[in-house]
Amino acid sequence: MYDYDLFVIGAGSGGVRAARMSANYGARVACAENRYMGGTCVNVGCVPKKLFFYASHYSEDFKEAEGFGWEQSEKKFSWPILRANKDKEIQRLNIVYRDLLDAAGVTCFTGRARIIDDHHVLVGDSEISTEKILVATGGWPDIPKFLGSEHVISSNEAFSLEKLPKRALVVGGGYIAIEFAGIFAGLGVETVLSHRGSLLLRNFDKDVRRFVSGELKKKGIDIFYNTRLSRVEKQKNGVLEVTFADGSSLDTDLVLCATGRKPNVQGLGLENLGIKCGDNGAIIVDEQFRSSVPSIFALGDVTARVQLTPVAIAEAMAFAKTHFKGEQTILDYQGIPTAVFCQPNISTVGLTEAEAKLEFGHIQIFKSTFKGLKHSLSGSDEKTMMKLIVDSASERVVGIHMVGPEAGEIIQGLAVAFKAGATKSDYDATIGIHPTSAEEFVTMREPV
Ligand code: FAD
Ligand code: NDP
Repeated sequence: MYDYDLFVIGAGSGGVRAARMSANYGARVACAENRYMGGTCVNVGCVPKKLFFYASHYSEDFKEAEGFGWEQSEKKFSWPILRANKDKEIQRLNIVYRDLLDAAGVTCFTGRARIIDDHHVLVGDSEISTEKILVATGGWPDIPKFLGSEHVISSNEAFSLEKLPKRALVVGGGYIAIEFAGIFAGLGVETVLSHRGSLLLRNFDKDVRRFVSGELKKKGIDIFYNTRLSRVEKQKNGVLEVTFADGSSLDTDLVLCATGRKPNVQGLGLENLGIKCGDNGAIIVDEQFRSSVPSIFALGDVTARVQLTPVAIAEAMAFAKTHFKGEQTILDYQGIPTAVFCQPNISTVGLTEAEAKLEFGHIQIFKSTFKGLKHSLSGSDEKTMMKLIVDSASERVVGIHMVGPEAGEIIQGLAVAFKAGATKSDYDATIGIHPTSAEEFVTMREPV
């Protein structure tokens, strides 16, 4: 009756996985992508960001090596080499993603897809009929409008700058802002981070938020709190004169606005279909990812719930199992671990102290702040912070937080213990691996 059983719009983290898995379960699947195979994560997100993070960390590593006997020789950084190598790796990944779809028997359309009605999609001149439509179109940077906002860039452009600026202003206090502030500072750019609030990272534990601000400053990032950008003027020599709402101003060479992302639904034709969307344009779906139109589904960033690649992938797996394997699968959104790749990293799973207090009433906090062994010789004054939050009644560890090198690598393992419901006595009964920073998580004995 239809050309396909499933038509997926968007070949990003969620779309590719949903298309592949549904095809593997026997569905006839097609997919449309208008920009880049692999979506945000591969092209302008997680992957190039982490590569840039590695690049920027070398400046610190070179300096610290002296304390270990390595003689300093002059090091020069080449932005064009980093950018070109990053591009090469992304091109490789674009092909890998395309091959994965081809191997699964998914038909790929190149171009912008528009939904015409409940069962029809238009890509270029091709009208395609399909039983189900899955919208996996992701998100897009949301830059507020102010005088001169055309002179600022978003994270999308930051990945392919022609030239690394001498000075940069990063606006925002979320994941992208603090990750890019760290990248720029590490690469030698004089970096100012300007946030409208009084602490960075709104939804994180307060101790983490306070601690990380101090660590970012140590890395040379100048942080302005309670500031709002009101105007950017480009001068004849290319310098950007930035004026804040309180009348203060600064000159810089680049302004990166990382002020959040909005669901990418523009031009999809949703308005003609009567699909229910939230205020921010996010497609509202039920636990089977079904929108208010029964044949149209959505997952990933376009639903603006948890905007992380592994979540989009997990949603795609649940979608494919439910709709094409006949295995009803409801995704558990509790205890999703996350990391911010600022310097040092932040990683966390479970509740913040404030959330835990609200949910359990009586809680115990175990906390440790220390200088890692490496820094006894490195000359760096970087510190690590670890925190466990325990529900006093059940003894379960309900929140795990870390700021420190490789925090994401460490918390990924502890997230398994978290999911398994480990209690504080399970931590106490676990023998540490010495000498590591991670062993601190199993040796914190006294609540604070
Ligand atoms: P996307 O990956 O955005 O894919 C959507 C795709 O749909 C895109 O390729 C787009 O071109 C295509 N598309 C849109 N409209 C149409 C249309 N009409 N027709 C055809 N194609 C269309 N997450 C992490 O877990 N870890 C990280 O370290 C991390 N770092 C990030 C860093 C940055 C700078 C950014 C911006 C995001 C980062 N994220 C990270 C978030 C992560 O990238 C997203 O959560 C994830 O990519 C969402 O996947 P998705 O499938 O929903 O959408
Ligand atoms: P976030 O939602 O994390 O942060 C947005 C920031 O911009 C907040 O500090 C917010 O302030 C501020 N802001 C919002 N609107 C304005 C405005 N009009 N003027 C000034 N400041 C404003 O969004 P990001 O863009 O940083 O990232 C989007 C999402 O992508 C993240 O939430 C995350 O899910 C994902 N991501 C994940 C990464 C990872 O896993 N490591 C890395 C990068 C992105 P306030 O707090 O006051 O609202």
